[in-house]
Amino acid sequence: MPPEPLTRFAPSPTGYLHLGHAFSALTAWSRPGRCLLRIEDIDSARCRPEFEAAIFEDLHWLGLDWPQPVLRQSQRRDAYADALGRLVAHGVCYPCRCTRAEIRAALSAPQEGVLPGPYPGTCRERSMDEAGRGDAIRLDLARALALTGPIGFAEAGPLHIGHQTANPAHMTEGLGDVILARRDIGTSYHLAVVVDDAAQGITEIVRGEDLFDVTPLHRVLQILLDYPAPTYYHHRLIRDRNGRRLAKRDDDRAIRRFRAEGATPQALATLVGFSFPA
Ligand code: GLU
Repeated sequence: MPPEPLTRFAPSPTGYLHLGHAFSALTAWSRPGRCLLRIEDIDSARCRPEFEAAIFEDLHWLGLDWPQPVLRQSQRRDAYADALGRLVAHGVCYPCRCTRAEIRAALSAPQEGVLPGPYPGTCRERSMDEAGRGDAIRLDLARALALTGPIGFAEAGPLHIGHQTANPAHMTEGLGDVILARRDIGTSYHLAVVVDDAAQGITEIVRGEDLFDVTPLHRVLQILLDYPAPTYYHHRLIRDRNGRRLAKRDDDRAIRRFRAEGATPQALATLVGFSFPA
């Protein structure tokens, strides 16, 4: 028997949900099977309880409901540490003490504040035996890809049709040796999302098109951690008048702003071009 279809909506409580989140949530809840809510609050310095409360309120207002208890990533440190240990045992991790300024200098980045490309590999030959408190842990992507072989994933979304094959050169040039564990929080978005989707038995990952390019990296981690391969459904992004992707600071696009102005959930769905399945 195939597993029960299960998807999830996984916002971070770092601001109010906006129209883009509404579209993402409505899409996730419209997919076959059940939809879980997960609170991605690993970045404790940026997350706030009032934003979490607002997530529950806004989603209920949209007419959405979810099974309890809700998983919070802040309570999952042991699971992330365990997964990291398994990746280390594969010999695909190394400690990195480079600061952003050092990385920028090594890459001679032209623009202040913008990292021009992937990590240049300064610490790549350091051994995990010398990892200390001031180190982040990076994935040696080339070594990881040598272990996994070709990377692909099943895509169910409307923007890319069918099976997707990752180009290893594109991964190396675009993502490179990503951080798996930040020195401040001991994990990262990539590690936490892969561990939790597997732990929760998610069969279809619904999320924005902005995460399409990191999906091959998530597949690499899933293969090394011996997790099942989920299907992905990447949806279009909701943009502002200037064509920019909405961000949490776009308060005038916040769901609660529309609520306060008396909009109905139906009107908001129409505004983002979502039609409820018949
Ligand atoms: N927590 C992420 C966000 O708020 C979602 C990540 C995902 O769906 O994989 O954008």
